[in-house]
Amino acid sequence: MTFETDSMAWLEEAVERLAEGFAGLPAWRPAAGHAERSRAVLAEAALRLQDNFPYFHPLYAGQMLKTPHPVARAAYTLATWINPNNHARDGGRASSRMEIEAVAEIAHMFGWTKHLGHLTSGGTFANLEALWVAGQLEPHKTILASEQAHYTHARISAVLRLPFEPVPADTHGRLSMPHLEQRLQRGDVSTVVATLGTTALGAIDPLPEILALRERYGFRLHVDAAYGGYFGLTATLGGDARAAFDVVGDADSVVIDPHKHGLQPYGCGCILFRDPSVGRFYKHDSPYTYFTSQDLHLGEISLECSRAGASAVALWATQRLLPLMRGGEFAAMLEDCRAAALDLHQRLSAADAFVAPIPPELDIVVWAVRGASVAESSERARKIFDAAARRDLHLALVQLPVAMFPGVWPEAPEADTVTCLRSVLMKPEHRAWMDQIWQRLSAAAQEILPSSSTK
Ligand SMILES: *Cc1c(COP(=O)(O)O)cnc(C)c1O
Repeated sequence: MTFETDSMAWLEEAVERLAEGFAGLPAWRPAAGHAERSRAVLAEAALRLQDNFPYFHPLYAGQMLKTPHPVARAAYTLATWINPNNHARDGGRASSRMEIEAVAEIAHMFGWTKHLGHLTSGGTFANLEALWVAGQLEPHKTILASEQAHYTHARISAVLRLPFEPVPADTHGRLSMPHLEQRLQRGDVSTVVATLGTTALGAIDPLPEILALRERYGFRLHVDAAYGGYFGLTATLGGDARAAFDVVGDADSVVIDPHKHGLQPYGCGCILFRDPSVGRFYKHDSPYTYFTSQDLHLGEISLECSRAGASAVALWATQRLLPLMRGGEFAAMLEDCRAAALDLHQRLSAADAFVAPIPPELDIVVWAVRGASVAESSERARKIFDAAARRDLHLALVQLPVAMFPGVWPEAPEADTVTCLRSVLMKPEHRAWMDQIWQRLSAAAQEILPSSSTK
């Protein structure tokens, strides 16, 4: 069987245990679920879902897609028998407490014992809340982020009507310090967004240097660690990345996506603020909710209203099983992902067919294909992408500045960007599968390139 199914038996046991808690209610019969037709419809849905790339398989090494942990899947489904709404304690007593606990564990990972934070539908909404708070504090000042930051920051700023400016990145995709300082000297900046784990490259912006600039120029620092946040738990980071993760706690706000590397189904981002007093901006006076409990409601510190309590239950269960600890089992999984990336990068660097000048800081590898021109290189990358897919190896493509490949196309490049291959090695299994991945990639390259350029 292609899929793990043991969790179905765990789920059945857990559903029975859950029902025991309500056994004192007057007996009633829940509506039957249209058994025959439901089965038929589910079978039809399963057929429809066959039309997907095999994201769960180790040979899927393309985009940021990762299968949830079986315990997360089971816990999420378990919670849907209650279907709690973490907007308010009235809507989800237990799951609100579980969210508060799980979020505190994430905050603790960044060294925070005091914080304000909650789960969101994803990284986009979590970043929106961070920039919204920044805008509440200084409504007319500019937000800065690297040109390699997620495009959502520019778009969120537009939604919030906050001025936004991109700052150039260096040849390794990190926020360029000289450019940032030049811009800060001109003044009128409210917030700098630093990305730990850029979406294209997994690059780590130099947080210690950015903090030094904060001392001089004074601004709010938001860390977008939606992708990379959990890597702070690992023991095998490079020196610069380690130094950045060690000071995340000095930021004013942090975003991390449990649905990226935290083994969660979609619908799970997280925003954290270092200063709990920003909660005052969320104040509202809904006449509908909050009548039965004196405790703080998550809906009072969140911009989204209804939110899946099931997400909180799944995250809580996953962190219970795999605590967010340095040296723990979860950290070891991320170390395997990074080892896979280093392995792939080493093989690419030794191959004549490819150009891979950017060592991976996390578990994302990008590389160009040799070609006489930028256009030829780009075309070959697209062809290798297709040829690899025909061999069940699924990679991704990414447009990168030609400047990231110094000296590769010495004649004036005809384009600013080149199409490159990209692999996000998010599964620990990628490490053991690297020979298989490499065989297929080499075969795809041999099919596309003239024989002199492969070895
Ligand atoms: C994925 C990602 C986002 C957007 O988050 P979603 O969960 O897709 O909404 C923002 N920033 C970074 C760095 C990301 O990797």
